[in-house]
Amino acid sequence: ASAFESISMAPTDPLFGLMAAFRADPSDKKVDLGIGAYRDDNAKPWILPVVKKAEEIIRSDPSNNHEYLPIAGLASLTSAAAKLVFGGDSPAIQEKRVASFQTISGTGALHLGALFLAKFYPRGSNPPVYLSNPTWANHHQIFQNVGLPIAQYPYFAKETCGLDWNGLTSTLQSAEPGSIILLHACAHNPTGVDPTQAQWKEIAEIMKARKLFPFFDTAYQGFASGDLAKDAWAIQYFVEQGFELCVAESFAKNFGIYGQRAGCFHYVAAPGAGAEELTKRVGSQLAILNRSEISNPPIYGAKIASTVLNDPQLFKEWEQDLRTMSGRIIAMRKALYEKLVELKTPGTWDHITSQIGMFSFTGLSEPQVLKIREEFHIYMTKNGRISMAGLNSKNVDYVASAIDKVVR
Ligand code: PMP
Repeated sequence: ASAFESISMAPTDPLFGLMAAFRADPSDKKVDLGIGAYRDDNAKPWILPVVKKAEEIIRSDPSNNHEYLPIAGLASLTSAAAKLVFGGDSPAIQEKRVASFQTISGTGALHLGALFLAKFYPRGSNPPVYLSNPTWANHHQIFQNVGLPIAQYPYFAKETCGLDWNGLTSTLQSAEPGSIILLHACAHNPTGVDPTQAQWKEIAEIMKARKLFPFFDTAYQGFASGDLAKDAWAIQYFVEQGFELCVAESFAKNFGIYGQRAGCFHYVAAPGAGAEELTKRVGSQLAILNRSEISNPPIYGAKIASTVLNDPQLFKEWEQDLRTMSGRIIAMRKALYEKLVELKTPGTWDHITSQIGMFSFTGLSEPQVLKIREEFHIYMTKNGRISMAGLNSKNVDYVASAIDKVVR
């Protein structure tokens, strides 16, 4: 008999199941609002022009090769990545309180951080990792798989399709000191709802008073608003406030290099005597973890991101590409909103334009989601989340009128 005779069938990943159902649908009207990747106005993947340029530079470099990177990854990437999230003149970087490791995109950065916390974070009273409810589903698996206890903080208010501010703050206020709080730096997935800067300040204040540990997930910097500094504001504010914290950074969306798996994990020590030396010790342990998990990270995507981040002219062109992507998404939010208003669709739809980033929680119920799939061949996740990247000038009216029909 197999050693695994008693193994049970795991459920298929709901998102990948949705993608398969979409592909199998023969209708020419079908619309994919499940995808978590940018699409252009023709519903096609988009290689950023600046990425094409960087690839040409890399390939024409006579010293280019496919050797192993060091355990911590491409140094020119990790240092530029730290500057990108923390700011070019960040005191944390100047004071050498940041340890940065290249990882397997954002997922790998979260995993490296989770593994590090599972191994080294003081577990005295076994404080949990708090995830927002809802959150990117993979967060649950990543932290559970390393054996950390999970708790949730309320995040989304159904009535307003906005932030559940009272739920969020009261949960943080009663969280056990030492709890780890996973925060989406911007463009919260799946809701598209972000705290305002004033609300971030209050969150920081509560977390400081309650001695809670921030772990930021930043997967959409620059992709959300088109402004790199604005999308990193919350992280920079927390660092400024003197927190010790972790950051998982992904380059999948903002460079459109999803399959290249480029990302970074950063540990930041609180300012003060001994911070630099502590950071070295933390970094030495992170190196062992990265070595045992992946030996060393992939080179090609790292070279692409590094080439752009370290060249002022390419960096400018990248910012333009970010404005192209975020601008198209913001335009689609507006178009969908305006069409729903024009159709006098029951309900309020302001949240479509006030939410930000790739995703929007429409407020559609599960039966409505199934109905819109069956009758209109429009695919979205069961929680009513739509990917704005799936909308374009050709299908937005069709989607709006389908929403209109299923909510009536
Ligand atoms: N965090 C969040 C919130 C995400 O939405 C994603 C991508 N869907 C990731 C992390 C990581 O993605 P990747 O591993 O492709 O960088």
